[in-house]
Amino acid sequence: MSSSSSSSSPLSKSNASACATSTSNGFVPQNYDYFLVLDFEATCDSGTQPSPQEIIEFPCLKVSAKTFEVESKFHHYVRPTAHPVLSEFCTDLTGIIQEMVDDQADLPETLRLFHEWLIEENLLGRADSADSNNAPHSFLFVTCGDWDLKSMLPRQAAYLNLTIPPYLKKWMNIKKAYNKAMGSFPRGMMVMLSALDIAHQGRHHSGIDDCANIASILKKLAEMGVHFKQTGSVE
Ligand code: AMP
Ligand code: MG
Ligand code: MG
Repeated sequence: MSSSSSSSSPLSKSNASACATSTSNGFVPQNYDYFLVLDFEATCDSGTQPSPQEIIEFPCLKVSAKTFEVESKFHHYVRPTAHPVLSEFCTDLTGIIQEMVDDQADLPETLRLFHEWLIEENLLGRADSADSNNAPHSFLFVTCGDWDLKSMLPRQAAYLNLTIPPYLKKWMNIKKAYNKAMGSFPRGMMVMLSALDIAHQGRHHSGIDDCANIASILKKLAEMGVHFKQTGSVE
């Protein structure tokens, strides 16, 4: 597995529909080449959240839509700038200590590094490339809930006056795919893991570990014949 990482971490009725035909490796064909499992962690406190809330962990797993194996990862901790000091509550929740964010890139720089990683993984074309034989692979972001790409990133981007690239404006909420397959809307990741009989890996609320667990849920739903579709977008 290739990786881009700033740390050695442990590490539409219609979102989903069953399909009878399967590929040679047992999974139904998907509309995308890859799923990018993403799970931000952000500054937080007990009671009221800090304002602005800021992303402090930016992990993303590149999952093959043919095998549902993780092929590559992007994982960076991110330095908050409006409120640089993490609360004790935030460290207890996420396992992220002050030293893990202090010398890291801020969000604008991390988004630039993420864009570079997408190009390296041939998920985006280089602006200067005219090589039509090497067309980028298609992908869909997968998140647990709508918060990451509907609320967290747009709010911080507005605060920083940053333009969000179009590819970060659409996603699939895995809770909706699960609901379609299982017939109940899950409160969270732990409920899905338990109902699907998947052992929880790592630490809950560590972004990279949450991504690994979401990827396991995605694979299990794929084994059940679920065809994944985009469920959300922002303008
Ligand atoms: P999660 O992906 O569920 O680990 O949560 C993403 C972010 O939501 C965390 O990094 C926190 O900023 C916030 N968050 C999650 N759970 C709580 C909680 N119980 N209290 C306060 N903030 C939370
Ligand atoms: Mg999350
Ligand atoms: Mg998380």
